[in-house]
Amino acid sequence: MEILRSIAEWKKYRSSLIQESRDQSLGFVATMGALHEGHLSLVRLSMKENTRTAASIFLNPTQFNDPKDLENYPDTFSEDVRKLEAIGCDALFAPAYEELYPDNFRYKLMETEYSKILCGAHRPGHFDGVLTVVMKLLNIVQADRAYFGEKDWQQLYLIRGMADAFFMNTEIVGGPLIREPDGLAMSSRNLLLTADERKKAPLFNRIISGPGTIAEKEKALEDAGFTVDYIEAREGRILAAVFLGKVRLIDNVKG
Ligand code: AMP
Repeated sequence: MEILRSIAEWKKYRSSLIQESRDQSLGFVATMGALHEGHLSLVRLSMKENTRTAASIFLNPTQFNDPKDLENYPDTFSEDVRKLEAIGCDALFAPAYEELYPDNFRYKLMETEYSKILCGAHRPGHFDGVLTVVMKLLNIVQADRAYFGEKDWQQLYLIRGMADAFFMNTEIVGGPLIREPDGLAMSSRNLLLTADERKKAPLFNRIISGPGTIAEKEKALEDAGFTVDYIEAREGRILAAVFLGKVRLIDNVKG
């Protein structure tokens, strides 16, 4: 696997692909690292649909409204590289902050409606950071298709909307939410749960997909020891975010 650390290196790699074959297509998976099967499923989906697949690892500080959350975010870079290599990913783009933010985030991309509800209401500025970094990455990478997980339902919706609104050349493709065998949605933040919290965590999915009204589910979550950030039914889905101790978990199910 080629590891490209700068935009200049990436551009060289991208033109080498185009020179290699005019029939090639490039698929792209953006991540913040601490890779698990959820990320790898997107890489595999891209490998099925494209001749080449690249992933990126960039822990994007501008989407963290809580500095502690950023500080504690797991960093497993060399393991991540091994996992990507093992499944046959062709390239990894892993730029530094200075490469991606020469403007130091003076320029931002903002959506004004859907980004203000659900996670956006509870994490002010979060989606400005997400949309800005995704726009930067897609502009640099110049992929034919980019893959995003349904685990982050609201994020996927906003990225699709951005690609449409700005006539972007990359097709946005959604991939299914991947769960642990006990039902917990896979997330890099699961690594931060204590052993006791990890045992309790699958109740989050069990409660939101179980019977009852939204208010009953909210009460059941609180009774089980979660602190509910939000739980809402929208467009045929139930979307929720909770804290378990210090760790914030999100999930969504058919409603
Ligand atoms: P992250 O590293 O959390 O920014 O996630 C990178 C990409 O992987 C995003 O498109 C996420 O939606 C996706 N992803 C994360 N966890 C999962 C999961 N459990 N199932 C499917 N996709 C996921």
